[in-house]
Amino acid sequence: MSKLRFDVVKDAFKKKAVEVKTPTKKVSEYFGELVFNREKMKKYLDSSTFSKLSDCIDNGIALDSETADKVAEGIKRWALENGATHISHWFQPLTEGTAEKHDSFMEYDGKGGMIETLTGKSLVQQEPDASSFPSGGIRATFEARGYTAWDPTSPVFIQEDTLCIPTVFVAYTGEALDYKTPLKKALKAVTEAALPICQLFDPKVKKVISYLGWEQEYFLIDEDVYAARPDLVLTGRTLMGHASSKNQQLDDHYFGAIPSRVEAFMKDIEIAGYKLGIPLKTHHNEVAPNQFELAPIYGETNLANDQNQIMMNIMNSIARKHGFVVLFHEKPFEGINGSGKHNNWSLGTDTGVQLMAPGKDPKGNLQFITFFVNVLAAVQKYNSVLKASIASATNAHRLGANEAPPAIVSAFLGHTMTELLKKLLDVPSDTPIEIAGKKGKSLGLVEVPEILMDNTDRNRTSPFAFTGNRFEFRAVGSSANCAGAMTTLNAAVADQLIEFKSQLDKELSKGKALNIAIMDTLKPIIKSVLDVVCFEGNGYTDEWKAEATRRGLDTETNVPELFKAFTEKNSVEMFTKLGIYTEKELEARNEVRWETYCKKVQIEARVIGRMAINHVVPAGFTYQTKLLENINLFKSNFPDTYQSMCATQIKLVHELSKVILDIQKKVEDMIQARQVANHIEDVYQRALAYHDIADSLFGIRKSIDNLEEITDNDIWPLPKYREILFIN
Ligand code: ADP
Ligand code: MG
Repeated sequence: MSKLRFDVVKDAFKKKAVEVKTPTKKVSEYFGELVFNREKMKKYLDSSTFSKLSDCIDNGIALDSETADKVAEGIKRWALENGATHISHWFQPLTEGTAEKHDSFMEYDGKGGMIETLTGKSLVQQEPDASSFPSGGIRATFEARGYTAWDPTSPVFIQEDTLCIPTVFVAYTGEALDYKTPLKKALKAVTEAALPICQLFDPKVKKVISYLGWEQEYFLIDEDVYAARPDLVLTGRTLMGHASSKNQQLDDHYFGAIPSRVEAFMKDIEIAGYKLGIPLKTHHNEVAPNQFELAPIYGETNLANDQNQIMMNIMNSIARKHGFVVLFHEKPFEGINGSGKHNNWSLGTDTGVQLMAPGKDPKGNLQFITFFVNVLAAVQKYNSVLKASIASATNAHRLGANEAPPAIVSAFLGHTMTELLKKLLDVPSDTPIEIAGKKGKSLGLVEVPEILMDNTDRNRTSPFAFTGNRFEFRAVGSSANCAGAMTTLNAAVADQLIEFKSQLDKELSKGKALNIAIMDTLKPIIKSVLDVVCFEGNGYTDEWKAEATRRGLDTETNVPELFKAFTEKNSVEMFTKLGIYTEKELEARNEVRWETYCKKVQIEARVIGRMAINHVVPAGFTYQTKLLENINLFKSNFPDTYQSMCATQIKLVHELSKVILDIQKKVEDMIQARQVANHIEDVYQRALAYHDIADSLFGIRKSIDNLEEITDNDIWPLPKYREILFIN
């Protein structure tokens, strides 16, 4: 076994970068070539079909079946020209990742031959067997049918030989069984809620858009080393492993030179991403060894989220070509940074105004402040459910641990914006908000600095930070579907904007001028958010926990408990009023969350138990035997003095016995706890029991790591942290 470990590590070390076939064209020339975008629509559809489809995409006007047939025909022609042989409805069930069911284009032509077909009906709707996807008991098993329906706002694309149709996935009874459906509803809610407010500032605004720019962090591990670690293979993280002597102390990885194998991988995924119209912009080394980040230019939230899911798939498959495995797990390695997926979020108008950025004049600035303050109010009011929206068994290893994010969802504004808000409370409501730095302005005005971006100090300890023209929801986990967080955030903001608008209307009905009515409505909200949700300090300290509790913010860290926020009164009211989730859906989704939580911990518990007994403890015995043989040799050669000569060996044999016994006992206790937990009928209660089991795994791991520390390196069967993390 140990030979395997050394061979694997040695071979991994010698691997060279895989050569990447670079297209001969410039990126701008092949960008989006595998996407049925507007340009392709124009080319493959007649003008009336094109304008009906555009209307469907832009304004949500349903397609009639005749038009759908024509669209399908055009898409089919394009797909066949690009080598596609299959069609798949591509959807995002409540598991990790995406799902697809492939059907070939082939049909009998009725004349004894075959023909490629794609009808409008099969483009628009399909019925995959839904019984094996999580539904939280929405669908009784006898009603296994669910259906997928085309989401025309996200373009059809080709992956390998398959034409992929982005779809929503719903039960026959109408409830959503996926991430996309509620996200689309939340986006509709927020953009509709924001529109009348924008129109107060500019009647020409017709549409508000929600934007998302994700930053995907991940680890790359050599695939052979990975294969020698059952914990990585089965759970996506290491359940044991003594810290390497060197890890991230020197900060020499962050933004460092990218290793050549990794560089080749990045190039390859970027080419694939560009072909699919994904505007990838940034890649760099992250803080931890073997940790990297990928980020596109932000885009409309639903599309940006689909693109994140597509990229995760692409990364998984292309990594293997390069002899790597991608780890999207939030905490693959103890003692070094975990991975997140910052969700940069903002709202903008179809007239090109960024609503989370200062405007050009006092009016624009007032609009900015209006939206800015309402976002803070939403984060304050829906504090618990926002945290619940990022909570998972895997993100729990980041949440509340001593790294991003802290388990309290506060908002960080930066010094400038904090001072600005404070100042707004002190000045009369009709004080114009000016851009600083411009000449000729009288003193005493409230000033927004021109380039806020440079003024927003980076507070890495904040889960929700303002960064100049957007908010960064940093608490989202690297393996998560952004839709979870984005549905809740957009919904919360929608709710707050509706509430704000109704208060504002009351002020306006008193005959106040718009700017005064707005400031009069905003002032009490500003006071409240400054007192409660805004926090500029270090989010990791115990003082902050105490202070946050005093302020009434949610400080819960127990993940199964956190999920309850979804079914609390104010969340249910908010989600149902906005038409995003029914109460039944909220309950069902929590069932899925608790069930998933239990299963994840159960798998980890089984894996660590078996690795302890089948890999680790036997290694300890082998080493003991080696020591005892050594002692015996001393005994036969130096019968009188061997005991003092073998003091170290004897001590080690005892220590090994102690640690092995410790491991064995802890594993037994854990197995017993699992047996008890498995008999708990209520899934929430069972998840709470599994939460304790998850805690106990740390204890087992500690003992195993102790054993690793004292056991002969030659005998240790598993690649060690230093061998996993410093090879690429
Ligand atoms: P950081 O310095 O925070 O790591 P990155 O450049 O890695 O920044 O990522 C920032 C992300 O935020 C990018 O996806 C970028 O396009 C996105 N972004 C920039 N402005 C906005 C905005 N107004 N709304 C949403 N996302 C934005
Ligand atoms: Mg970044």
